[in-house]
Formats: sequence, structure tokens, C-alpha cells
Amino acid sequence: MVEMIFLKFVIVWGGLLITAWPVNNFVENLVLKLPPKSLLRASDTVVHGLIGGFSFWLTCHLCPDLVLDVSCLFSSFGDGCGRKNKRSEFSYAPLASMFNFAVAFMISCIVDLDHVFQDFIQMINGGVRVPWERGVLHLSLPPLILTLILYISAAIFHYIWCLKFGTLIIVCIFSHHVRDGIHHGLWLHPLGITPKLPQWLYIFITQFLPLVTSGVVSILLYRIKSKLILTNEIYIV
Ligand SMILES: [Zn+2]
Repeated sequence: MVEMIFLKFVIVWGGLLITAWPVNNFVENLVLKLPPKSLLRASDTVVHGLIGGFSFWLTCHLCPDLVLDVSCLFSSFGDGCGRKNKRSEFSYAPLASMFNFAVAFMISCIVDLDHVFQDFIQMINGGVRVPWERGVLHLSLPPLILTLILYISAAIFHYIWCLKFGTLIIVCIFSHHVRDGIHHGLWLHPLGITPKLPQWLYIFITQFLPLVTSGVVSILLYRIKSKLILTNEIYIV
């Protein structure tokens, strides 16, 4: 059992590393050779999505309480919400993993709608169009602050959904910013912009962000669960 958990960890972490390094390099070289409006440029956004998907998958593997529960969604075709049994949980597991990966993938990709939006605004205004310019969704302070607020809320009010949303934001949106940071630095307005991130730092942050996040969430979950157990015991007494 422990071997299986470790093997799955190595596979997912390896998938993240392959995407963040060789696949990223291949796509970046490809995009450089493409014309500005080529649809193939979307492959760059797909790499963001894969990094977000693998990062959230890894975080959920290390901290299973973060998994977005979709049993209600899928059980609507069968048993009905809240009537889970061992057989149905087993059959939902691959679908749940795919659903969680897909959600993280989409959140990571949505950030790049910024470029399309910026392009659209410039087209309406009739000014000089700067293709794929970054916009508000590429500001790094809001997701960092929002994650902090959600984690603090989880610690105070014992809401586990706050941990789930906070984790999705940090591993999907911030990892997107870190990858873009290789070319433009991190936008920390109003504090300023960091220098361009070296590639080794981008890979290091991408690989360790899910590990650090799951560590922080595990500590918060331990506190939340022990508080809830204590509250229940007091209630029962
Ligand atoms: Zn971007």
C-alpha cells in the first residue's frame, strides 16, 4: 500500500517535471517560430493547464481531503447523493481524478484569457495592437492574498472548502504566473515587477509548490479536525 502511494507520487511528480521542463522547452521553441495569430500558440496555454492539473493532482495525492467531491455529480446517474457504498466510491475514483485534473487545467488556462481580452480592447480602441499582452489576471498579488485569506478563514471558521479553493488558486494561478515570469518577471503591483525568473528557479518553484502547499494544508487540516472532534465531544458530553 505504501509502495503504491509512493509510486503514484513519483509518477505524478515526474509528469509535472516532464511538462515543466522538456515539454515547456519544446513548446516555447515551437511558439517562437509561429506567426503572431496562429492558433497553435494555444499549445503554450495547454502547458499551463497541464502544469496546473499535475500540481493539483499531486497536492490532492499528498492531502486527500483536498479532492473536489464529485460523488453527487456522478451518483445522480445512479445511487443518488449521500448514498455511497464501497463499490460506488471505487467506480467514481478515476472519474473524480479526471474531474479534479480538468478543473485545475481549466483554471490554469483561464488566466490566459487576459491576452485575448487585452487584444480585443485594443482592437475596439483602434490603437496599436500588442498581441498577447498581459492583463489583470496576470497580477500575482491578488491570488496570493486571496489564498492567504481563504487559509486564515479555514483556520478560524473550520471551512474545508476554503482550503480547497485556496489550494486551487495557488497551484493553478500562481504556477501560471511563475512560468510566465521566465519572460516578464512576476507582476506584484503596486509593489512592482520582479526581474525575469531564471529557468531553474521556475522549475524549482513549480516542483515544490504542491509539496509546500500540501504541507501547509495538512497542518491546517489537523488543527481543524482536532477542533471539530473536540467540539463534537463537548456536544456529546
Ligand atoms: Zn499567461
